[in-house]
Amino acid sequence: MRLFKKKDEVLDPYTVEQCNSCHAISKRKFREGDHVFKMIEKCTSCGNGQMMVTKIFGEVSK
Ligand SMILES: [Zn+2]
Repeated sequence: MRLFKKKDEVLDPYTVEQCNSCHAISKRKFREGDHVFKMIEKCTSCGNGQMMVTKIFGEVSK
């Protein structure tokens, strides 16, 4: 059996936020302390909704 060494992949973490009022979605780079369902600042699109983290994922950086 032959083993192939997997090439090291570096993942860049991203955070997706969604407004609970107008459902605007914004994606940005992950910041320390982010977690799913974390409330962020007020929505800048509608002005009265609250932005919440809905997803955190990693993308392979090139
Ligand atoms: Zn909004």
